[in-house]
Amino acid sequence: MEAVTEPYKTEELLQLAVSLGASDARAIDAGQICVEDALARHCLKPRCENFGLSPSCPPHVSGPAGFRKLQEKLEHAIVVRIVLPSAVLFSAERREVMGLLHQIVAGIEREAVEMGYVDSKGFAGGSCKTIFCHDHDACRRLSEDGQCRHPESARPSMSGFGINVSQLMQTCGWPAKINVRRAESDPEAMTWVAGLVLIG
Ligand code: SF4
Repeated sequence: MEAVTEPYKTEELLQLAVSLGASDARAIDAGQICVEDALARHCLKPRCENFGLSPSCPPHVSGPAGFRKLQEKLEHAIVVRIVLPSAVLFSAERREVMGLLHQIVAGIEREAVEMGYVDSKGFAGGSCKTIFCHDHDACRRLSEDGQCRHPESARPSMSGFGINVSQLMQTCGWPAKINVRRAESDPEAMTWVAGLVLIG
């Protein structure tokens, strides 16, 4: 595909994010994303149950160093979030919501590539093994048994790159804590899940 010649169509990508199901979407400079080595180490200690299960999580991702290299190359970013009742994340619907988050960032990435931003990359949350391949013993890519089963949706988790998501929410002007006065057991308590797409 040809390199981009048109101006960056921010509004189109923001509208796409909302039409795909995001509650909020914001355009920022990629350089505003804060990456911390210490945050990426949380995947290892205490070891996350998803550690090593898919190419989307450590130790199979390039981590903070890899993300910083991408930031040098890719100038723009679209950040998205889905606001939802906290209780949903503790219910059987969790997988569906996390799957939607992956589909949103993958959809924005695809559109950006179509626009000519051929190196654009989406990042979501959670392990694609748990979200998309929970019924399979192993990730097909890691077991070298073929291609990814869900290339149109599955994207790497931000955690493994040490992305400071709370700060990202602040940068976007979104409160990291919503309904802070409500207990998590409150059925009306709300929370969010977030993802981002580097554009370039
Ligand atoms: S096959 Fe694809 S979606 Fe499934 S765990 Fe592997 S990388 Fe993730």
